[in-house]
Amino acid sequence: MLLFWWFIDNVVQPFLLLAFAAGSQWALSFALPGEMMARPSDDDGTWDVWFVRRSSEWIGGIVVRVSSVLVFFAWFGPLLFLWWSTHIVARRLKVLEAPDRDTMQVSGESSINRRWCDFCNVPKDDRMYHCRRLDKCLPLFDHWCEWFQGCVWAHNVKAYLFFVTFIPVHQLFCLVVGIWALTDTRYEHQLGPQIIVLVLSTIMLPFSFRNARVPWINLVAHNMVWPESLKGLIFLQVGAPGNVIVLDARDPAQNPWNLGFWKNLCLYLGPWYTLPFFWLPSRMYRLDGYPTRADLQPAAVPLQELRIDRRREARSTTGCEPSEDAAHARRPAAPHDQTES
Ligand SMILES: [Zn+2]
Repeated sequence: MLLFWWFIDNVVQPFLLLAFAAGSQWALSFALPGEMMARPSDDDGTWDVWFVRRSSEWIGGIVVRVSSVLVFFAWFGPLLFLWWSTHIVARRLKVLEAPDRDTMQVSGESSINRRWCDFCNVPKDDRMYHCRRLDKCLPLFDHWCEWFQGCVWAHNVKAYLFFVTFIPVHQLFCLVVGIWALTDTRYEHQLGPQIIVLVLSTIMLPFSFRNARVPWINLVAHNMVWPESLKGLIFLQVGAPGNVIVLDARDPAQNPWNLGFWKNLCLYLGPWYTLPFFWLPSRMYRLDGYPTRADLQPAAVPLQELRIDRRREARSTTGCEPSEDAAHARRPAAPHDQTES
């Protein structure tokens, strides 16, 4: 049974994606527009070329070909980048040891302490989580994605949003154009590729919609990566050693990194004029003080700290006191004392 799911995750899913990529380009960038621009004429069976045919047909052919290629590269470009970002950038990344700071995320699993990775044997910076597939801690690590066999982390989160958003758009495009081509008797010479792509789009569309919904809710609406949503509780040392507050990451009002939908989106996507450049790292790490590159030191974060101060005030008025164990918060523990991964 385990082997079955391993096979589905690691073979069937990537295969479906590549089959859809190849099939959609064959059907909608070559076969159908080719036929719209030059096909056997109805009466004598010889081929017309585009410039002697009705302009509505060859203009239609150009529109289908250009839109098909554009919507394809809107997710296939990010897919190539995601793969490179995982297997070249993340594998080679040397993460600097995070310095002690007055305001930082701490571990609350057994006692309040510095976050420590048992696998990498290093203290972890804020929002850094361990990827078991790469066997490495990555900043803003979200999850390992079976579709493209790579991980989502600070370097590629913008490309990931492009990837999950434009796959369902492309599949809807294939469904609409494919059904139109099937019902139009003028284009009956290239039925095979159209049917293959229609079947693939129909099978994959429900999964694509579900896969697009989760990152938009978790990452953009809540600014919460997958390990945070699993754990739920965030232990945050605020302003001074030992002053620790506990926040529920799944509660949008408590999550210390959530700035609201639009500000989260701006941080992930960058300024509007950089919107098409999916390979630029998210600004999360410039404004929030987490390094995108190993040689950048984490800095204090005005935006983030302002928010934490407000939380702290809110907490103190509701009588939530810092934890007793918090006195040990700054003492780095021996690795075997830590259970967090
Ligand atoms: Zn690690």
